[in-house]
Amino acid sequence: MYVNMIKMLKDAEQGRYAVGAFNIVNRLTAKAIVDKAEEMHSPVILQTSQKTVEQLSPEGVVDFVKPMAERAGIPVALHLDHCTKPELARACVDAGYSSIMIDMSKRPLEENISVCRDTAEYAHKFDVSVEGEIGAIVGVEDNIKITEREAALADVDSSKMFVEKTGVDFLAPAIGTAHGLYKGIPKIEFELFAELRKVIPVPLVVHGGTGLADDVFKHLISMGAAKINISTALKMAYCGTIAEYCEQNEKRDPLKLDLAAYEAVKKMAQGHIELFGGENKA
Ligand code: 13P
Repeated sequence: MYVNMIKMLKDAEQGRYAVGAFNIVNRLTAKAIVDKAEEMHSPVILQTSQKTVEQLSPEGVVDFVKPMAERAGIPVALHLDHCTKPELARACVDAGYSSIMIDMSKRPLEENISVCRDTAEYAHKFDVSVEGEIGAIVGVEDNIKITEREAALADVDSSKMFVEKTGVDFLAPAIGTAHGLYKGIPKIEFELFAELRKVIPVPLVVHGGTGLADDVFKHLISMGAAKINISTALKMAYCGTIAEYCEQNEKRDPLKLDLAAYEAVKKMAQGHIELFGGENKA
C-alpha cells in the first residue's frame, strides 16, 4: 500500500512504537527495505535525501518506489528528507511523493515558518504529508553543515507556534541527536522531548538515528517518538558490503555483488525495525 505518513505515524505514536525511515539511494536499497518490512509485517518509510533526488530526479524515484509500495502488503510511504529548496519539494509533490520535509531550520524562524506554511499548503492539496524542523540538528546531511556550537535545541514555545502557524503534520525538534556517526556519547534532551510531547499536537520525529544506544531509542519511543530516521547505517551496510565483496572476490559477479548488498541492507533494516517495535504492526 502506498500511503502518506499521517495515519501511519498517529498509529505508531498511540501504539508506542516508531516507524523506521530509511534513506534509500537506489532501487536495490528500496527493495531490501520493503521486502524486510513486509516479512516482518511492519509499516515502513523510504526517504530520499535532497542529493539523491537531485541525482535520480523525482520522477525517477517515484517510478521504482511507487509500484513496489503498491504491491507490498504493508503501508509504505515515500518521503523527501531535509529539503532546503521549496521548488524541489513541489517537484517531488508533483512527481508523486507521498510525503515531504521542508527544512528551513537554518534560516530565521519567520522565514522557516513562511516557507513551511506555503509548502505545506501546496502539498496538502495533493494529500501529501509534511514534516518541518525546528532548532538545528547537528552533523552533516548532504550539504547542510551545522557545527555543534551553532546548533540550537528546539524551544517549546517556538515549536508550538511553529506547528500552529505552518500546519505541518509532523515536527522534527532538535533534541541533541546528530546526523552521521557520534564521536562521543550524545547528550539527549529527554526532558525537552517530554515537554514537547505534552504541547505539540502532531507526531514527533527523531533524526540522527544511527549509533544511538538501544535504551535511548526505547526511552524516546516510550515518550511518543513516532518516526526515526536512519541514513548512515544504510550507507555503511551497502557500501561496506560492496567493498568487502570486491576485496574478497577476484572474479566479480555483479548479481552476487547485488545480492550481498541486498542481504546486508535487509539485515540492517531488521535490527532497527525490531528495536523500534514495528514488527507485526501492519
Ligand atoms: P543518521 O545518518 O545519523 O542515521 O541520520 C539520519 C537522518 O536523520 C536523516 O535525516
